[in-house]
Amino acid sequence: MSTDYDVIVIGSGAAGMSAAIEARLAGASVMVLEADDHLGGATRNSTGVVYACNSSTQKEKGIEDSADAVYDYIMTLNQHAVRPDLIRTYADECGPMLEWLKEKGVEFPANMLVHSDVTDVQRGHTSKTFGLGIADALINRAGALGVETALGTRVDGLLVEQGKVVGITADGTDLRAPSVIIATGGFGNSPEMLAKYYPTAAYHGDRTWAVHRDAPFILGDGITLGQSVGAEITGYDTGLLNPSPCFDSRYVEAFLPPWLIAVNKHGKRFMAEWESYAVCGYLISEQPDKRCWAIFDHPTMVENGDDLSYADPYNSGLAISSWEEITITREVEKGVAHRADSIAEVARMAGLDPEAVEETVRRYNEDVEVHGEDRQFRKDGNGHKLTPIKTAPFYAVEVRAAIIGFTAAGLDITADCEVRDTRSKVIEGLYAAGEVLGCFHGKRYAGGGTSIGSGVVFGRRAGTVAAHHALAAPVPA
Ligand SMILES: Cc1cc2nc3c(=O)[nH]c(=O)nc-3n(C[C@H](O)[C@H](O)[C@H](O)COP(=O)(O)OP(=O)(O)OC[C@H]3O[C@@H](n4cnc5c(N)ncnc54)[C@H](O)[C@@H]3O)c2cc1C
Repeated sequence: MSTDYDVIVIGSGAAGMSAAIEARLAGASVMVLEADDHLGGATRNSTGVVYACNSSTQKEKGIEDSADAVYDYIMTLNQHAVRPDLIRTYADECGPMLEWLKEKGVEFPANMLVHSDVTDVQRGHTSKTFGLGIADALINRAGALGVETALGTRVDGLLVEQGKVVGITADGTDLRAPSVIIATGGFGNSPEMLAKYYPTAAYHGDRTWAVHRDAPFILGDGITLGQSVGAEITGYDTGLLNPSPCFDSRYVEAFLPPWLIAVNKHGKRFMAEWESYAVCGYLISEQPDKRCWAIFDHPTMVENGDDLSYADPYNSGLAISSWEEITITREVEKGVAHRADSIAEVARMAGLDPEAVEETVRRYNEDVEVHGEDRQFRKDGNGHKLTPIKTAPFYAVEVRAAIIGFTAAGLDITADCEVRDTRSKVIEGLYAAGEVLGCFHGKRYAGGGTSIGSGVVFGRRAGTVAAHHALAAPVPA
């Protein structure tokens, strides 16, 4: 069989470029095909947090951590409804993966190490130059190794011979290789895919929005390509949704500020409002009608609305501009946010039960004024005093978990990144890694940095295994 390359990689984000580097290091000739007019994918536009334990950055800060702790945490958070083999691999490999990225030139300063999950250990390693720094480092390394790339090349089919994947097609051109790696990312930009595989996100219609504006091909092509050769699709209705007020001005945000309270349709609180984005979007989506209302008073908003130390406790680089006075006032004038001189009236305007909201606010005020703490939901103000909601005017703002952080339905792989069919049999010659997978993340996102982190961990493995398959060499353990 004639071949053009040993390994073809579809997609040039963290997963694809990590795969390309390892495949090349294993001796394979590698071509990366990218639909967009530049390399880097959504990875390039991300915040660049990478979730890892046992890193030199953690050690610099005197943080003790372990792979076992990461494994136990992710398994427990997901009530063990995740793949233990993949989680074990991630837990064991995430530390070496971070050092591997550092060797490629990505800087993860100790002062940008953050809490990005719901443990008390800092595991969110923020790249000094965010996602761009990670993408560039991988692209540069791949280029230096002789990985070839083709831009503006949207793969639209897989070549199959005798049940094996032997190449790809793109706009009528065939390219042959004994190993093909799908690393096409998620499908946040495709309303059809969202409706089919992530209905919780699609539920909000036009209110749902992806922040992948600069990565237009995040359309789920990897799912379609996989399905064309019988691949299993798993991870239905999973991903990450972040809270977003129903304003037309769409700011990229990951948190609610701690100084407001959120009530559901029944006027009741249901979480410490300032929960990590590992959990807060899910908690909102689990409320009736998948939404809630932020309730706050004028002086608190004026005092805190533009305080970024409040707004960005995890140093995520994501500001919370929605809650600044200028934004709220504009939205009140448009009739989108509600303002009134009493809690009962503002609740009524928002369609909530006035008495229930009054009682919720009374209890919250009693907690913070009399007891000095949120006794009900243990909300931590991160050093800032929690303030009562008692001085008119009062506000009510509808909030939904409607910003797509990433999608998590997709292909099913073995621990060696071989794509499996609907009977769990390996499709020879086909590998996958990154956001295109549906078998890694569970119902709850473990924490900031596990998307890029798992993309690099499994991308590296996919590259190694695919190269050895192409070169007919035994795959290293
Ligand atoms: C605002 C924001 C911030 C984020 N911050 C973080 C963070 O800090 N940490 C974290 O872990 N995650 C973060 N994420 C999620 C993370 O960015 C992605 O999940 C991750 O980068 C996906 O990497 P990937 O390599 O799988 O895919 P991508 O980086 O998306 O790359 C996929 C590539 O495949 C290309 N492609 C698609 N289809 C085809 C085709 N048919 N032919 C050829 N090429 C194709 C695309 O154009 C794209 O370039 C963030 C997401 C958002 C929206």
